[in-house]
Amino acid sequence: SPEYCSQIITPTCNTTFSYIDDLNDHIRVSLSKLVQTSYFRYFKLNFEKQCKFWNAQHFCATENCAVEILSPSQYNWSNVTNDDLRPLKLGKINLEQPATDDDDAQDTDATCEDLDYTHIDDDHQCVYVDLLNNPERFTGYGGAQAFNVWKAIYSENCFPNSASEENHHLTVSDADEDDTCVEKNLFYRVVSGLHASIAVHLSNEYLDSETGEFYPNLKVFMERVGRFNDRLSNIYFNYALVSQALVKLNNLVSLHELIEFDESHTHNEARHKFVNNEEPTENYDELLGQIIPMISSNTLFDTSSLFNPESVSPGLKDEFRSRFKNISAIMDCVGCDRCRMWGKLQTIGYGTALKILFEGEDPKNTEKLRFRRIEIVALFNTFDRLSKSIEAINSFKTMYLQHLEDV
Ligand code: FAD
Repeated sequence: SPEYCSQIITPTCNTTFSYIDDLNDHIRVSLSKLVQTSYFRYFKLNFEKQCKFWNAQHFCATENCAVEILSPSQYNWSNVTNDDLRPLKLGKINLEQPATDDDDAQDTDATCEDLDYTHIDDDHQCVYVDLLNNPERFTGYGGAQAFNVWKAIYSENCFPNSASEENHHLTVSDADEDDTCVEKNLFYRVVSGLHASIAVHLSNEYLDSETGEFYPNLKVFMERVGRFNDRLSNIYFNYALVSQALVKLNNLVSLHELIEFDESHTHNEARHKFVNNEEPTENYDELLGQIIPMISSNTLFDTSSLFNPESVSPGLKDEFRSRFKNISAIMDCVGCDRCRMWGKLQTIGYGTALKILFEGEDPKNTEKLRFRRIEIVALFNTFDRLSKSIEAINSFKTMYLQHLEDV
């Protein structure tokens, strides 16, 4: 029904849950293979960066919170710093030193000049991790610490949207006057969809404390996500948003050229060290060819009416960008390294998606638009997280129906 439909995609609804389920079935295997390739599986971040919002104590000391960091001998730092890539179709590819992230910069001031929606770690304290060796799953991180991080994300940096989540424990006090604005609603849904997707992953790989094995826990899934239509639909919403960003990115930069260029010029030595020269030749073209045309066949997410200067205040986009950037900084307050790593990756992934969707087609931005390798890596991995979430949701659905038959 239109009501059901508008729950999924705003402002323009042209897709359904089942459409996304089918699409996801078609691309799941290729996407999962793609993120296992050497271009996409290594992620760079700084675990030493201090939380700048409060004095964060890191309490999660279980081994499940830990991250296996690649030793410097497994990569060559000097060869992996040049990762600022410019859209091919907007000009010849151009490697430049990435802008340094000024920790002390006031986020609210920074947004007028720069098009980034996230902070990206880029200093000498950064390390590389192999995402495949550090899966996103149950870690045991929780309690007041995790609650406060989510509270900061929703309360301090998110546009209020009390209507979307009834009895929301994290409701902000300084409610905005314009709760119905679609851009603010979009912001809330991105964050809630991220939160829900993390909950799906931790339920899908939940720790059995007796055996030490990870297994899908239907009860935890239902308590955290399955019983909440909003949360479920926000995951699908994010899937539509990120897939549309990938389609637009492919129009902007020609993804296979970007990856090939990067592989052969920038990361060659590092890549060989990472994979010990054992990895078979990876066919990015073939895998991308199985994903991009499928997600391009229907416009899942229409952003053309968003940030229309005739209907919203001129500063709204800057504010939106600034607030989202703050969320990426809050990730430094997450006291579990594994959660922090996946939180950062996905925040960069969504930030890149928003940059593509809201800045990519503006002719004013032609000269300024830059994509770093890490943004491309984060974007595809974020898409993979959502894709795996949707696969898990369907598998939980089957388990739930089975459970109803059994009782
Ligand atoms: P929380 O998930 O902490 O939620 C707090 C409150 O937010 C809820 O009571 C509810 O009112 C509201 N809420 C919950 N979900 C939504 C939603 N989707 N939309 C809107 N409102 C919502 N734990 C792991 O085991 N593995 C991980 O990889 C992991 N990654 C994390 C990454 C980050 C950035 C953070 C902040 C936490 C992470 N955690 C992870 C912890 C996990 O998200 C939960 O905080 C923890 O499991 C405790 O869950 P909870 O049920 O108490 O409520």
